[in-house]
Amino acid sequence: MTQFKDKIALITGGSRGIGKSCALKLAREGCHLVINYRSDQKSAEETAARAREYGVKALICKADIAKVNEIDDLIKFTMDQFGRIDVLINSAGISQIIDYSKITENDWDKMMELNEKGTFFCCQKVIEIMKNQKSGKIVNLASTAGQMGGFIVGVNYSVSKAGVICMTKALSKVAIKFGININCVAPGLIDTDMTTSYPPETVASMKSGIPIGRLGSADEVADGIVFLASEKANYIVGTTLYINGGTYLG
Ligand code: NAP
Repeated sequence: MTQFKDKIALITGGSRGIGKSCALKLAREGCHLVINYRSDQKSAEETAARAREYGVKALICKADIAKVNEIDDLIKFTMDQFGRIDVLINSAGISQIIDYSKITENDWDKMMELNEKGTFFCCQKVIEIMKNQKSGKIVNLASTAGQMGGFIVGVNYSVSKAGVICMTKALSKVAIKFGININCVAPGLIDTDMTTSYPPETVASMKSGIPIGRLGSADEVADGIVFLASEKANYIVGTTLYINGGTYLG
């Protein structure tokens, strides 16, 4: 797959986990990168350095995706550096293991501000750029929890990811008219820093419900994302790709 050669990808939350795997897979295909991070500059620098080993330009940019003015700065940085955006991967996200009865107003707002509002405004602003280019691919990160109504990873998380699935459908209907494909992936339980922060007994109990019998890897999710970001997915619009080891609805 050389179709990413000299394309430009912006990856929110690209420093670690699933975003990092996407960055490295795209770099291997010749894609130049802006790797966004919020606080972990060291990981962002390491990911960018590994990407550069493939001969591409890989820049890092600090921005809190929960803040619309910082999204503006991130997009301005990308446009100043590269002048276009061919691929946007919205991987920045947080989760929380919490019982519904303990969720506070702050927990709710924090979750929505990043996972839902941040994802929406990244899409909204990048669609305007891709519109002028008359092409582009956007892949959002939803979750099996957002499809099934997960309650162990909090209801606030599930609702935020259900919103991502819905916004992907809604925005894709508008954006496809400008040659922009928007899709999302819904990973199940994936072995990243996000899940290693969960209590081991919680992970064990969640794992017992996965037919394949193991957690997925960030690379396995990134393979699906890179496919959706590729020209092989030109006829795929507003869909959700399940990457969950067999954990289906119901
Ligand atoms: P991760 O390993 O915890 O990495 C999260 C990434 O998001 C980091 O690069 C982090 O940057 C960044 N980030 C967090 N808050 C941010 C903010 N406010 N602004 C900008 N960047 C921010 O997570 P992951 O497992 O790769 O998850 C990636 C996406 O997949 C998330 O949207 C998650 O909800 C979704 N997902 C994950 C799983 C799973 O089991 N792991 C399952 C379903 C869906 P810093 O380190 O700089 O903070």
